[in-house]
Amino acid sequence: TDDPRKLPAWLRVQTPGTPSYNRTKDLLQKLKLVTVCEEARCPNHGECWSHRTATFMVMGELCTRRCSFCSVMDGTKENLQPLDTTEPDRVGQAVKTLGLHHIVITSVNRDDLPDMGAAHFDATVRAVKRYQPECRIELLIPDQRGQRPLVESILRSGQVSVLNHNLETVPRLYPTVRPGAKMDRSLNVLKWAKDLHPKILTKSGLMLGLGETRHEVYEVMDALRSVGCDILTLGQYLRPTEKQLPIARFVTPEEFDEYKQAGLERGFRHVESGPLVRSSYHAWQHVEGETPP
Ligand code: SF4
Ligand code: SF4
Repeated sequence: TDDPRKLPAWLRVQTPGTPSYNRTKDLLQKLKLVTVCEEARCPNHGECWSHRTATFMVMGELCTRRCSFCSVMDGTKENLQPLDTTEPDRVGQAVKTLGLHHIVITSVNRDDLPDMGAAHFDATVRAVKRYQPECRIELLIPDQRGQRPLVESILRSGQVSVLNHNLETVPRLYPTVRPGAKMDRSLNVLKWAKDLHPKILTKSGLMLGLGETRHEVYEVMDALRSVGCDILTLGQYLRPTEKQLPIARFVTPEEFDEYKQAGLERGFRHVESGPLVRSSYHAWQHVEGETPP
């Protein structure tokens, strides 16, 4: 019972199999859509889906990066497919049929494509707004290899409420956790979004429990505030399978509370911090002045 790798009680949750959950699942299957909620077996899907929030993963299920915390399969020249141009419309249909109020659209990295999928993001945003104009859209985007025109083209519609790009961890751990990414490049993505659309809310998140120190987390918070980042999410890293990085430690709920305080003191307008927090957890509450539907 003293095994430090054993899942603490605060991380054990039940996943409900309610009729509405099953209906949602059937529809998504019919429309051949992938949600992170299901793929990642996210522990919060009961809560999010009942608040009419879901996270869609577009552009396929193979990724050209190899983050060592992630179980998405490797995309290579041999197995990557061109983008399916009917996908934006199918996302729009799903959002309308399910009556979703707040969605998160994210993607794998598609470094193999000339625009890394920027136009596909934009098309998806427009399709969702066509089908369900009142649905708020949050995008969780890759770093577009630091190409500002691509970040801007993703946001061109002016219909994105929240732009999320996760820093994932502290810079010292990038070579092991997030090879191929650079913290400055990621901070720029958030900065450019604000430069282009000052009203957009920017958001970022870290996984904790990978070996970071408290001081390092505070430094990242300061760096995020220096580019005007509005919303911060902090959650426990959980190892998807044996192939991914081991968990260095479980951060306690009390520590998460302290981080939340530290974040609010630094001026984030919303900090979601807790063991089960994922970057889209309680996403519907992050937009100030809006109450959960
Ligand atoms: Fe889906 Fe995100 Fe909610 Fe998890 S936290 S169920 S991935 S919307
Ligand atoms: Fe996973 Fe995203 Fe990293 Fe690809 S870029 S390996 S999907 S975390």
